[in-house]
Amino acid sequence: MVPSVLSLGYHAYRVLPVTVEVHLLPGTLGMQILGLADSALKESRERIRSALLNSGYSFPVKQITVNLLPADIKKEGGQLELAVLTGILVASGEISHGILDRHIFLGSLSLDGSVRDTPRLVSALLHAAKYEKRIAVIPAEAADMAAMIPGLRFKTLQAIEELSRLNDLEIFTGKEQLSPLTGTEVTFDQILGMEREKKALALAVAGRHHTLIMGEPGTGKTVLITAASSLAPPLTTKEKLESSEFYSLAENSSTLIQAAPFRSPHHTSSDAAVIGGGAKPRPGEVTLAHNGFLFLDELIQFQTRTLQALREPLENRTVHIARAQEKVVYPADFTLLAASNPCQCGYLFSRSGRCNCSPIKRLSGIGKISGPFLDRISIELDVQKQTTLQAGSLSHTWYREKVLEIDERIRSRNGKRGNNSLNRAQLMEHLQGSAEHRLLEDLSRRFSLSPRGQIGTMQVARTLADWNGKDKIGEECLEEAFQYRSIRLLAMSVFSEAA
Ligand SMILES: [Zn+2]
Repeated sequence: MVPSVLSLGYHAYRVLPVTVEVHLLPGTLGMQILGLADSALKESRERIRSALLNSGYSFPVKQITVNLLPADIKKEGGQLELAVLTGILVASGEISHGILDRHIFLGSLSLDGSVRDTPRLVSALLHAAKYEKRIAVIPAEAADMAAMIPGLRFKTLQAIEELSRLNDLEIFTGKEQLSPLTGTEVTFDQILGMEREKKALALAVAGRHHTLIMGEPGTGKTVLITAASSLAPPLTTKEKLESSEFYSLAENSSTLIQAAPFRSPHHTSSDAAVIGGGAKPRPGEVTLAHNGFLFLDELIQFQTRTLQALREPLENRTVHIARAQEKVVYPADFTLLAASNPCQCGYLFSRSGRCNCSPIKRLSGIGKISGPFLDRISIELDVQKQTTLQAGSLSHTWYREKVLEIDERIRSRNGKRGNNSLNRAQLMEHLQGSAEHRLLEDLSRRFSLSPRGQIGTMQVARTLADWNGKDKIGEECLEEAFQYRSIRLLAMSVFSEAA
């Protein structure tokens, strides 16, 4: 029987399950590796031979053919070496075939037969935790890292001699570590008043609605958004592992993501940095924000190209990156929280200050985001400078409890987080009755909402009904949802003035 050994490699910044098959054929002494291995792995022949001989095993005097499957995808990752070596030992009868079904082999080799850690191994370990029926066999050097991955079962190897008694090695299980409290968290309690804005952002977090806040400088847009991100419900273990896997590959970090990611690329970032891509495809900020938030500050300063490219992940929650040789899909299920001045001087929508931008300048700013981009935003909020400051009556803790309560409600109804994936037909069923249908049509006309924009507003209305503990969307929820469409009205007035 041809041994088939499971390992994990990498391809295009994703973890790739790799099956290693080893064939021993009579003939000349030699070894070839088939199946698009990267050059490092192709050069591992000598290391494998030397490791075997230095550990008291024999190197088969046969023609060794190693097949890496799937055959047509390029594979990277030095940690495949241990699997190749294990396959050779099983094929030559040095160790028992029976160990293969229960384990995943991860590690590189040194000439003396010791098993070594590799860069980015943490991504493979995070992925290995998804295999409930398999135990990861890993370098002893990586034990501390593995111990922090919830649910990962693993055995450690110092050297390849231990492979012959693999069944007797102790099994460890990774445990979730509590993250230390930082104590520097920004909260709503630091912002006086602004109850309308706080509620809108709490809705955005609970329902996962893309949100844009516009207003003059000094209205606290950034603080509001930073504080809102800390309302996010805790991540499930599955979400933590998923987010950490991408982080570790893209950022070369070995920290486990504990809370909803908050990414804030600068407006000068290239579209490849924000969306993903480049000569060798890699995930961008939208993927690093997966399961969390993408904060774009000074939205109208971003390149038009970047804003156009954002439309796909905003709508489909994935990004497709096409290059000459391959297509890669990365997850991008984030909530957009964007803030911006409405124009260069910042006072375009202000009731207290005067905008001194030229009509052309005004159009180039707000014009960049109105239309298709704004259609993919579900909550548009203009903020005004407060004239009287008053302490908010609701605390950050109150909002956080509210978000948790809505999240529970939504998950038990939709089977997943957020109301942002409900389609038109589903949303129509949530409307209370014919009065709501009429009101929706009427308001959509008044606000010039496209069919896509209408779905976004109905999703917000659904979250408002959840806020109120209602099963159906009534008139009051619809009316309130349309109040969060104020930017398009202000933008329309700028356009009609310029015309
Ligand atoms: Zn201005």
